[in-house]
Amino acid sequence: MQALYDVIVIGAGPAGYVAAIRAAQLGLKTACIDDFVGKDGKPALGGTCLNVGCIPSKALLESSQQFHALQHSFKDHGISAGEPTMDVGVMVARKDKIVKQLTGGIGMLFKANKVQSIAGRGKLLSGKRVEVTRHDGTVETLSASHIILASGSVPIQIPGLPFDGKHIVDNVGALDFDVVPRRFGVIGAGVIGLEMGSVWKRLGAEVTILEALPDFLGSCDADIARIAAREFKKQGLDIKLGCKVNAAEVRGEEVHVGYTDAKGEPQTIVVDRLLVAVGRRAHTRGLLADDAGVSLNPRGQIEVDEHNRTSADDVWAIGDCVRGPMLAHRGSEEGIAVAERIAGKAGHVNLDTIPWVIYTEPEVAWVGKTEKECKDAGIPVRTGSFPFAAIGRAMAMNETCGQVKIVAHADTDRVLGVHMIGPMVSELIAECVVAMEFQASSEDLARICHAHPTLSEAVHEAALAVDKRAIHRVN
Ligand code: FAD
Ligand code: AMP
Repeated sequence: MQALYDVIVIGAGPAGYVAAIRAAQLGLKTACIDDFVGKDGKPALGGTCLNVGCIPSKALLESSQQFHALQHSFKDHGISAGEPTMDVGVMVARKDKIVKQLTGGIGMLFKANKVQSIAGRGKLLSGKRVEVTRHDGTVETLSASHIILASGSVPIQIPGLPFDGKHIVDNVGALDFDVVPRRFGVIGAGVIGLEMGSVWKRLGAEVTILEALPDFLGSCDADIARIAAREFKKQGLDIKLGCKVNAAEVRGEEVHVGYTDAKGEPQTIVVDRLLVAVGRRAHTRGLLADDAGVSLNPRGQIEVDEHNRTSADDVWAIGDCVRGPMLAHRGSEEGIAVAERIAGKAGHVNLDTIPWVIYTEPEVAWVGKTEKECKDAGIPVRTGSFPFAAIGRAMAMNETCGQVKIVAHADTDRVLGVHMIGPMVSELIAECVVAMEFQASSEDLARICHAHPTLSEAVHEAALAVDKRAIHRVN
């Protein structure tokens, strides 16, 4: 057996690489093992998030939004620029460059922090040992005082709809089309389905999204989901609810997709490309030897307690491979907390204040409980909303759609949730996370001076509206 480390991390996604850097910062001798191979065939750090998730999707969303704005809203500013064209190859190459820059950056951070980066597949054995199979097939066994499992997640496949990487794709394929599909089908109106549907819709595809559930964006606040449904429909996204897909067949260059509609009737649509975005599951295949001592829960996730300890001594698990929202920042915070606990400090993650963002146009963001969740739990609430249509900065930006809604406890006034749809709400939500972390009341937010003219005034006014004293609208 070789090399005794203080910490071995398996997985270098946003959970694992952050854990490794924090552990090294705290003086722990740390190695991070990752098996991801990039488009160029070389090992690439950063996991799903940097390579085929958060970052590349945001790069394409930005490019497609610029194209769409040039076609549809620049004229409102008096700008005309002839007939715009989109070179999909250039757009994808720009995305790849950003990915390369960021994944390479993790390598440099590892070096600077003295994290030993190991390219290969890790398997947890008993006794805090890890078997590493390098990409060239050589195998070695390492050991550490603590192991952190951060193996992430993989897309769920629908039985009978195997990904073929060209016609029926997962997120990896949908980030890399070389031309705009004429007809683009998406299964699942979740975050990934809506973001990828938006990208290709803006570039000219006819987009149909089939969603099994009867309600649109069921985990969002109902007011926000209603506005989102209206806006996406206006944009031409054809979102069919209550439609459960059960089969798809590639015939030549077409995909025939079979589903049962909301009335239970069998239906078929024909598309050129089909994205299956029905959720992701914990990636644990080949990760654990039979005697590793790590239990999985009924959903196949690694079972952890509130401090991310698994059932095996000194083995921890973080990020998408454990319970909780599958979001990069949740995994990163768990990584920091676990590294700090290993170093004898008091790391902790508050799962009740994890912000969610959907990077559509308009963006959707929220933190905490919805009004309905509070009501279902018998919590008395007061709410205050404020529309971006009454915000000067939003008018100047030509982006007046949407609102901020604050849910506060009716007796204590503590902020229990904030729900937004509108311009740059991915950034505005941060203030509300801070407020909730500091257990702020809506009055606290209302009494804080917000710069004028900014979008953040919508948060301020929504807080005032909880007490029916918004200034720039009739209460
Ligand atoms: P991962 O990022 O999945 O990393 C796990 C790593 O471990 C991978 O590199 C994997 O190859 C490696 N690995 C697994 N098993 C082994 C093993 N046995 N040995 C060695 N290596 C192994 N989240 C957001 O917060 N914001 C977004 O905007 C966002 N957009 C997304 C868009 C898309 C299209 C997708 C697919 C996801 C998006 N997500 C977003 C989710 C986000 O990507 C994940 O929540 C995040 O990547 C999880 O981080 P992780 O470190 O737990 O796992
Ligand atoms: P998310 O979990 O946010 O990635 O969203 C995935 C979405 O896919 C959920 O809203 C599911 O209801 C939906 N979904 C899952 N299976 C199917 C299916 N067979 N047909 C249509 N939608 C599905």
